[in-house]
Order: sequence, then structure tokens, then C-alpha cells
Amino acid sequence: MSRMIADCRRFESDNNCSLTMIGEEQELINAAAQHAVSAHGHQDTPELREQLRGLLEPEDSYIAGTRQPEPFPA
Ligand SMILES: [Zn+2]
Repeated sequence: MSRMIADCRRFESDNNCSLTMIGEEQELINAAAQHAVSAHGHQDTPELREQLRGLLEPEDSYIAGTRQPEPFPA
């Protein structure tokens, strides 16, 4: 099973978060949900997890360094 990326650099955030997580999808959803709660003040809900799932990117699209952030999708 291929790994996926959840990349906080991709989105604008209050704390300019630079965290990038890579892992298999279910691990990554769990880790990203915990991070969204602890670092970004989200509520860990099925809706949040569904949204996170839609934001994952393939591992081989990883780009090192900085990334131009875009607004977080509402
Ligand atoms: Zn973050």
C-alpha cells in the first residue's frame, strides 16, 4: 500500500505550520486529526477526518523546502 502526504505547508494557518506527515492513509488520518486538534484548534469529528482524507496527496508528489500556501478550504 502506498503512503500519502498530509502537508500543513499547503495551507495558510495562524501559526504558519510547517509540518508534513507521510504515512499509510489510515495512520495519516489519525495523526493529522490529532495534529489538527492540538495545533490548529479543530474538533476531531468524522467530518474533519473526511475533509483530511480529501486533502491527502501521493507520497511521490512531495516537494522539499517551502511551499506557497493557499487558503484552507471551508
Ligand atoms: Zn499544522
